[in-house]
Parts: sequence; structure tokens; C-alpha cells
Amino acid sequence: MNISRHELNALVNSRYVKRGEQIVQEGSIVLDRISSESIHAYAIGTGIYQITLSRSDTTKQLTGICSCPAFLDFGPCKHIAAAGLARLQPGYMPDEWCCEQKENLKKTIYFLNKKTKTELIETILRFVAQDQDLLDSV
Ligand SMILES: [Zn+2]
Repeated sequence: MNISRHELNALVNSRYVKRGEQIVQEGSIVLDRISSESIHAYAIGTGIYQITLSRSDTTKQLTGICSCPAFLDFGPCKHIAAAGLARLQPGYMPDEWCCEQKENLKKTIYFLNKKTKTELIETILRFVAQDQDLLDSV
């Protein structure tokens, strides 16, 4: 899927576009799958977030979703901007570290998908037990 800078600017607040530019410069966006209908990307920093850019079926307008907490509260975020900007930049290459992180994430998702609810709870509890801050928050 191709997008234009104009569409991206219409979708994401200019403040977040600026932050997105920084993210692209750092090489922290991994473009994962680009099809005729969508762009899937990962933003890798302190957290790992999944981004999807696509077009509305009816209006053909560019839309985006991101798994980060800011998206839930404020809508189109810096990660969506960064994914779009990376798509717009010819020959964009992510930082090598980010590619490794993405592969690790894929393995983890694959592993977690095979677990039962009880096993997932046990896994979460094991992590929580290792982290005092997390332990205090539950
Ligand atoms: Zn985001």
C-alpha cells in the first residue's frame, strides 16, 4: 500500500509527526508486512508496539491503529506517524537491534498463543514476582 505525506499529515497531529521523524531517524521502526491493502509495522523502544495502516473501505481515507497506550487515549500516535514516514522514505532500513527484537517478539507471541489461560496466569505471576514495581501495582 502506498501513502502520501499529505494523507499522513491529515491523519496524525503534527506534534506526533515530529516525534515520528525522530523514531525513523533512530531506526526504531520495523516495516513488517506491506500488502496492497495495509502496512504492518513494529515500533521498538522501551516497549514494542504493533502498528497497522490501512484505508477505510468506504471513504478510502488513511486510518491507523497502534497497540500503545497513548493510542487508546489520544488516537493516532507518534508510532503511526513513524510507520508512515518509514514507508515514505525510499530505502528505509531499521536499526539491526530492532530487527532482532522483532524476531524475539514474534517467537514470544507464538509461544504465548499456545498456552492455556492458566499457564498464561502462571507465566505473568512469575514475571510479576521478579519485579517489585509490578508486584506493588497488582
Ligand atoms: Zn502508538
